[in-house]
Amino acid sequence: MARDILQNWQKKSGERQKLYKQYLQRADKNTVLKQLPDLHEEAFSKVDCLQCANCCKNYSPRFKTPDIKRISKHVKMRESDFIEAYLKVDEEGDYVANSLPCPFLGPDNYCRIYDQRPSDCHRFPYTDEDVIIKRQALTLKNSSFCPITYYVLEKLIENTK
Ligand code: SF4
Ligand code: SF4
Repeated sequence: MARDILQNWQKKSGERQKLYKQYLQRADKNTVLKQLPDLHEEAFSKVDCLQCANCCKNYSPRFKTPDIKRISKHVKMRESDFIEAYLKVDEEGDYVANSLPCPFLGPDNYCRIYDQRPSDCHRFPYTDEDVIIKRQALTLKNSSFCPITYYVLEKLIENTK
Protein backbone atom coordinates (compact mmCIF):
# COMPACT_ATOMS: atom_id res chain seq x y z
CA MET A 1 0.00 0.00 0.00
CA ALA A 2 1.18 3.52 -0.77
CA ARG A 3 0.97 4.49 2.88
CA ASP A 4 3.50 1.79 3.71
CA ILE A 5 5.75 2.66 0.79
CA LEU A 6 6.37 6.17 2.11
CA GLN A 7 6.76 5.20 5.75
CA ASN A 8 10.44 5.38 6.74
CA TRP A 9 11.19 5.96 3.08
CA GLN A 10 14.66 7.37 3.63
CA LYS A 11 15.82 4.34 5.58
CA LYS A 12 14.28 1.95 3.05
CA SER A 13 15.81 3.83 0.17
CA GLY A 14 19.23 3.55 1.79
CA GLU A 15 18.80 -0.17 2.19
CA ARG A 16 17.54 -0.72 -1.32
CA GLN A 17 20.10 1.21 -3.38
CA LYS A 18 21.59 -2.01 -4.74
CA LEU A 19 18.18 -3.25 -5.80
CA TYR A 20 17.45 0.08 -7.53
CA LYS A 21 20.77 -0.09 -9.31
CA GLN A 22 20.07 -3.60 -10.59
CA TYR A 23 16.57 -2.59 -11.62
CA LEU A 24 17.77 0.46 -13.56
CA GLN A 25 20.48 -1.54 -15.32
CA ARG A 26 18.03 -4.17 -16.51
CA ALA A 27 14.89 -2.12 -17.05
CA ASP A 28 13.36 -1.91 -20.49
CA LYS A 29 13.29 1.78 -21.38
CA ASN A 30 9.96 1.73 -23.22
CA THR A 31 8.22 -0.20 -20.46
CA VAL A 32 9.46 2.35 -17.95
CA LEU A 33 8.57 5.37 -20.10
CA LYS A 34 5.02 4.09 -20.55
CA GLN A 35 4.47 4.03 -16.79
CA LEU A 36 6.17 7.30 -15.89
CA PRO A 37 3.41 9.87 -16.56
CA ASP A 38 0.96 8.13 -14.20
CA LEU A 39 3.56 7.30 -11.55
CA HIS A 40 4.96 10.82 -11.66
CA GLU A 41 1.50 12.28 -11.08
CA GLU A 42 0.71 9.72 -8.40
CA ALA A 43 3.97 10.46 -6.55
CA PHE A 44 3.32 14.22 -6.62
CA SER A 45 -0.18 13.64 -5.26
CA LYS A 46 1.24 11.69 -2.29
CA VAL A 47 4.29 13.80 -1.47
CA ASP A 48 4.07 17.49 -0.60
CA CYS A 49 7.24 19.21 -1.82
CA LEU A 50 6.54 22.14 0.50
CA GLN A 51 6.96 19.79 3.46
CA CYS A 52 10.26 18.54 2.06
CA ALA A 53 12.43 20.93 0.02
CA ASN A 54 15.36 18.53 0.39
CA CYS A 55 16.47 19.39 -3.14
CA CYS A 56 16.47 23.17 -2.60
CA LYS A 57 18.12 22.82 0.81
CA ASN A 58 20.96 20.50 -0.15
CA TYR A 59 21.67 20.81 -3.87
CA SER A 60 21.87 23.58 -6.39
CA PRO A 61 20.41 23.53 -9.87
CA ARG A 62 22.55 24.69 -12.75
CA PHE A 63 21.83 28.29 -13.66
CA LYS A 64 22.18 28.21 -17.43
CA THR A 65 22.49 31.36 -19.54
CA PRO A 66 18.74 31.63 -20.31
CA ASP A 67 17.98 31.05 -16.61
CA ILE A 68 20.37 33.82 -15.58
CA LYS A 69 18.92 36.22 -18.17
CA ARG A 70 15.34 35.52 -17.13
CA ILE A 71 15.86 35.52 -13.36
CA SER A 72 18.13 38.57 -13.19
CA LYS A 73 15.56 40.52 -15.23
CA HIS A 74 12.83 39.31 -12.87
CA VAL A 75 14.71 40.44 -9.76
CA LYS A 76 15.71 43.65 -11.55
CA MET A 77 19.45 43.11 -11.35
CA ARG A 78 22.18 43.34 -13.95
CA GLU A 79 23.28 39.85 -15.00
CA SER A 80 26.81 40.48 -13.76
CA ASP A 81 25.52 41.70 -10.37
CA PHE A 82 23.20 38.71 -10.14
CA ILE A 83 26.06 36.30 -10.83
CA GLU A 84 28.25 38.09 -8.32
CA ALA A 85 25.59 38.03 -5.62
CA TYR A 86 24.21 34.52 -5.96
CA LEU A 87 26.32 32.23 -8.12
CA LYS A 88 29.64 30.46 -8.40
CA VAL A 89 31.17 28.12 -10.99
CA ASP A 90 31.24 24.44 -10.01
CA GLU A 91 33.80 21.78 -10.95
CA GLU A 92 31.92 21.04 -14.18
CA GLY A 93 32.06 24.67 -15.25
CA ASP A 94 28.36 25.36 -14.60
CA TYR A 95 26.96 28.26 -12.63
CA VAL A 96 25.35 27.05 -9.40
CA ALA A 97 24.14 28.75 -6.23
CA ASN A 98 26.98 30.06 -4.10
CA SER A 99 25.31 28.96 -0.87
CA LEU A 100 22.94 26.32 0.41
CA PRO A 101 20.06 26.20 1.07
CA CYS A 102 19.35 27.87 -2.25
CA PRO A 103 19.25 31.66 -1.73
CA PHE A 104 15.79 31.73 -3.34
CA LEU A 105 14.25 29.28 -0.92
CA GLY A 106 11.91 31.28 1.28
CA PRO A 107 10.21 30.61 4.59
CA ASP A 108 7.71 27.71 4.44
CA ASN A 109 9.84 26.23 1.67
CA TYR A 110 8.36 28.42 -1.05
CA CYS A 111 10.60 29.33 -3.97
CA ARG A 112 10.82 33.11 -4.27
CA ILE A 113 11.34 32.91 -8.02
CA TYR A 114 9.07 29.93 -8.66
CA ASP A 115 7.65 31.08 -12.02
CA GLN A 116 11.12 32.01 -13.25
CA ARG A 117 13.07 29.19 -11.60
CA PRO A 118 15.92 27.47 -13.46
CA SER A 119 14.91 24.75 -15.92
CA ASP A 120 16.69 22.18 -13.74
CA CYS A 121 14.29 23.02 -10.90
CA HIS A 122 11.35 22.83 -13.25
CA ARG A 123 12.39 19.36 -14.42
CA PHE A 124 13.51 17.97 -11.08
CA PRO A 125 13.34 15.10 -10.08
CA TYR A 126 13.09 13.94 -13.72
CA THR A 127 10.51 11.30 -12.88
CA ASP A 128 8.63 11.95 -16.10
CA GLU A 129 11.70 11.89 -18.36
CA ASP A 130 14.01 9.24 -19.78
CA VAL A 131 16.72 10.84 -17.60
CA ILE A 132 15.58 8.39 -14.93
CA ILE A 133 17.02 5.55 -17.03
CA LYS A 134 19.72 7.43 -18.91
CA ARG A 135 21.43 8.95 -15.88
CA GLN A 136 21.28 6.10 -13.43
CA ALA A 137 23.83 7.45 -10.96
CA LEU A 138 21.78 10.64 -10.72
CA THR A 139 18.54 8.69 -10.21
CA LEU A 140 20.15 6.68 -7.43
CA LYS A 141 21.44 9.79 -5.73
CA ASN A 142 18.04 11.47 -6.06
CA SER A 143 16.29 8.42 -4.59
CA SER A 144 18.33 8.84 -1.41
CA PHE A 145 16.95 12.30 -0.59
CA CYS A 146 13.85 12.77 -2.76
CA PRO A 147 10.75 10.81 -1.70
CA ILE A 148 9.19 11.29 -5.13
CA THR A 149 12.08 9.56 -6.88
CA TYR A 150 11.99 6.85 -4.23
CA TYR A 151 8.24 6.36 -4.70
CA VAL A 152 8.47 6.10 -8.49
CA LEU A 153 11.31 3.57 -8.28
CA GLU A 154 9.47 1.47 -5.71
CA LYS A 155 6.34 1.43 -7.88
CA LEU A 156 8.26 0.56 -11.03
CA ILE A 157 9.86 -2.36 -9.22
CA GLU A 158 6.52 -3.42 -7.73
CA ASN A 159 5.02 -3.47 -11.22
CA THR A 160 7.61 -5.98 -12.42
CA LYS A 161 6.27 -8.57 -9.97
S1 SF4 B 1 13.42 16.44 -2.88
FE1 SF4 B 1 11.78 15.63 -4.18
S2 SF4 B 1 9.96 15.54 -2.84
FE2 SF4 B 1 11.48 16.87 -1.86
S3 SF4 B 1 10.92 18.94 -2.55
FE3 SF4 B 1 12.49 18.16 -3.96
S4 SF4 B 1 11.29 17.24 -5.66
FE4 SF4 B 1 9.89 17.50 -3.91
S1 SF4 C 1 15.49 28.31 -7.49
FE1 SF4 C 1 13.71 27.81 -6.28
S2 SF4 C 1 13.11 25.73 -6.89
FE2 SF4 C 1 15.25 26.07 -7.57
S3 SF4 C 1 16.56 25.31 -5.91
FE3 SF4 C 1 16.22 27.49 -5.55
S4 SF4 C 1 14.44 27.60 -4.17
FE4 SF4 C 1 14.47 25.56 -5.11
